[in-house]
Amino acid sequence: MKNVLLIASEAVPFIKTGGLADVVGSLPKAYNRDEFDVRVVLPKYRVIPEHFQQQMEYMTNFYINMSGRMIYVGVFQMMLDGVTFYFIDNEYYFSGDRIYEDGLWDLEKFAYFSKAALTMLCVIDFRPDIIHCHDWQTGLMPVYLKNEFWDSSSYSDFYQNMKAVMTIHNLKFQGVWDTKSVREITGLPEYYFVPDKMEAYKDANLLKGGIVYADKVTTVSNTYAWEIQTEEYGEGLEEHLRYHNNKVLGIVNGIDTDIWNPATDKLLASKYDAESAIKNKKANKKALQESLGLDVDDNKMVIGLISRLTNQKGLDLVNDVIPGIMDGNTQVVVLGTGDAQYEDTFRYYEDKYKGSFCAYIAYNENVAHNIYAGCDALLVPSRFEPCGLTQLISMRYGAVPIVRETGGL
Ligand code: ADP
Repeated sequence: MKNVLLIASEAVPFIKTGGLADVVGSLPKAYNRDEFDVRVVLPKYRVIPEHFQQQMEYMTNFYINMSGRMIYVGVFQMMLDGVTFYFIDNEYYFSGDRIYEDGLWDLEKFAYFSKAALTMLCVIDFRPDIIHCHDWQTGLMPVYLKNEFWDSSSYSDFYQNMKAVMTIHNLKFQGVWDTKSVREITGLPEYYFVPDKMEAYKDANLLKGGIVYADKVTTVSNTYAWEIQTEEYGEGLEEHLRYHNNKVLGIVNGIDTDIWNPATDKLLASKYDAESAIKNKKANKKALQESLGLDVDDNKMVIGLISRLTNQKGLDLVNDVIPGIMDGNTQVVVLGTGDAQYEDTFRYYEDKYKGSFCAYIAYNENVAHNIYAGCDALLVPSRFEPCGLTQLISMRYGAVPIVRETGGL
């Protein structure tokens, strides 16, 4: 039996801002339980829905030393679908309205989270063989593990030889702050703040530290594993990743086929499987057109787009071609929130092409399910896309993905 701990800043169904949460929520369920004991640790954010908060059980508490200050760590626990989730509790850090905020606050919050989660293992006596870290928020975990914890006499040999895997879901986000602040907040000595460790372009970079001290670095598709070693996609870390090339590999993400299953999906107007898709997708298309104020017409091709509305997602490419696409035979449904320029442009198109264009500017899971089921094709024009989940979900729902050839797409 091997023990594995996933540590991340978000996971479905507790808290989600993007694909990271989908992966951290669904990966543990996919392990073979006979061979692996897989557990997950997350921050206990106040914005986690109340019904989950009520199911969490208090386990223990202790204090950790962050740069000379002793800080409270509470640990809560909850089982879901056979997976144990731990939640690190500290109201000072995790009671915001949003899980990611600005300035130094996120640095302090996630430095604390990494160290608290690591210390928790010894306190609750769960010794993972592998700690699986996700994105910059947990980049300090391998750094603390290999340095403060591996050889620490306070823990005898509890942490000795524990391995760390660092998964990069999106290299664009690296967790970069000025070196002085990172030194002060993390309590790490000067030794780490050099170019072959955590320093990058004079600043301190949490993800870079994770890459240095992880035993393996994975990213979410083979193409992206190669792309990030090039100047075009490397976000400034390409040389560093080329240097560590022998431990970098790509593993394509999967989707949770229980949540994303048109044969059982309660949110759909009509359920279907591969056999009944052609017939039943029509009912879903009709329901989608009705609910979103589009002309109800089965002969129209419906193109969906479900995305964070940011530059990464290639929306400028879409904006330019919309007038050409709106040829009288085509309808477009956009679901997303993000940059005002994109939100405004899509609203403008909704007004201009009444009955054929819908701009649903919101984050809404229910609507997402109905778009996957009701559209004929899903557009994913990303400029870069480490893996991308929407194209996987759309294939599962019998909608043809139209993608730009990059990363996992
Ligand atoms: P990223 O992680 O870069 O945002 P992914 O394609 O990996 O992109 O994952 C996006 C996930 O978020 C998918 O599950 C998608 O269905 C969901 N999603 C994106 N925008 C919305 C939205 N406005 N409403 C509901 N779900 C959304």
